[in-house]
Amino acid sequence: MKTRVVVLGAGFGGLELTSILSDAFGDAIEITLIDKEDAFVFGFSKLDVMFGRRPAADVHHRYRDIVKPGVRFVRSRVRSIDPAARRAVTDAGTFEGDVLVVALGADIDPAATLGLVEGGHEFYTVSGAIALRDVLPRFERGEAIVGVTGKSFKCPPAPSEAALLLHDYLTARGRREATKISVVMPFGTPIPPSPDTSQAILAAFAERGITFVGDNQVQALDPARNVAVRSDGTEMPYTLFLGVPVHRVPAVVVESGLAADPYGWVPVNKSTLETVFPGVYAVGDVNGVGTPKAGVFAEGAARVVAAAIIAQLRGGPKPSPYTGAGSCYVEFGHDQVGRVDVDFLSGPKPTGIFRPPSEALVAEKADFGSSRIKRWFGQPQPLLG
Ligand SMILES: Cc1cc2nc3c(=O)[nH]c(=O)nc-3n(C[C@H](O)[C@H](O)[C@H](O)COP(=O)(O)OP(=O)(O)OC[C@H]3O[C@@H](n4cnc5c(N)ncnc54)[C@H](O)[C@@H]3O)c2cc1C
Repeated sequence: MKTRVVVLGAGFGGLELTSILSDAFGDAIEITLIDKEDAFVFGFSKLDVMFGRRPAADVHHRYRDIVKPGVRFVRSRVRSIDPAARRAVTDAGTFEGDVLVVALGADIDPAATLGLVEGGHEFYTVSGAIALRDVLPRFERGEAIVGVTGKSFKCPPAPSEAALLLHDYLTARGRREATKISVVMPFGTPIPPSPDTSQAILAAFAERGITFVGDNQVQALDPARNVAVRSDGTEMPYTLFLGVPVHRVPAVVVESGLAADPYGWVPVNKSTLETVFPGVYAVGDVNGVGTPKAGVFAEGAARVVAAAIIAQLRGGPKPSPYTGAGSCYVEFGHDQVGRVDVDFLSGPKPTGIFRPPSEALVAEKADFGSSRIKRWFGQPQPLLG
């Protein structure tokens, strides 16, 4: 009998895990990869789409193109999960595994912030990015706020990147003098584990006249008065609001009992990513391991789980524990990319080493994307995002 691995969610974590297991076992394993969407989109591609740097069609990587032995992709929505039985019910049937991997990411909930849907925009979904692509050309003058609305959100550098890219966009259109840009964020500095990266981002903001408001969230918008209300009670006028919506644990995961509530990310063993249910793992944004919500950490977690499955099936030594380490690229605008190498779990406190923006890092980021697509989909794709 082949070992059956059911992977819920074909994002960074699910795709990485599936690829490693397929490469290791080929047809000798049975992997079912389930996702409600028909294509994968990198988080950073949403910035490209909103600023018109790439057409939306270019950044979708179709799951039907996955060519991997031992892997079956099922496009369907997961309706319920029974972790004790390692079983998931979907619109396309019920799937049971010897191993169940929950990699369903974080859900985005714009409606959780009063006034955001009616009076603002978000750039955390593809549809939000596409809507902004059409809105930005009409932004001529006034105040733009890039505002984070919850404490836990994907890709901590993304709001800063959005502000820096907005600066370039408005400058190119000759509208920068008539506009103001502010960033509101729950942290005291843009990238808390890396003072050097934070300092570089704050210097870039200062150079470009971008205002940074730390230790704050936007808790509501009042579209009638065009003001954003911060968690410290201050009101900020806005013409254009670019929001990072509230993130929450997918409802199906909460209903399964794997998470206690919509803001309680799935508890896991920090070394192995296993949940309290034997043979059930939670990788990526959905877990509460303590790393930021970013693709590189989802990928690192998937590697640890894959190593555990390989060791279990081949009888090898126990894999090394998860270290929560990864490198995040940071768009600095002016066609420059920097990098921060962070390590969350191996030392007494998180650390982050800053690599200043360079052309070499622009190329490295492009290679980061294209190498994943090649590895995950099993064939080079003509368009990469
Ligand atoms: C603007 C922006 C920029 C970013 N930039 C970066 C970056 O530069 N570097 C970086 O590392 N990370 C970046 N990220 C973060 C990164 O995209 C996420 O952290 C990463 O995708 C998380 O991987 P995951 O596998 O946990 O979840 P995801 O990649 O979100 O995958 C979860 C999958 O589960 C599926 N799913 C959810 N619910 C169901 C259901 N009920 N049934 C079936 N399928 C379901 C979803 O369709 C999705 O495909 C960025 C994010 C944003 C929004």
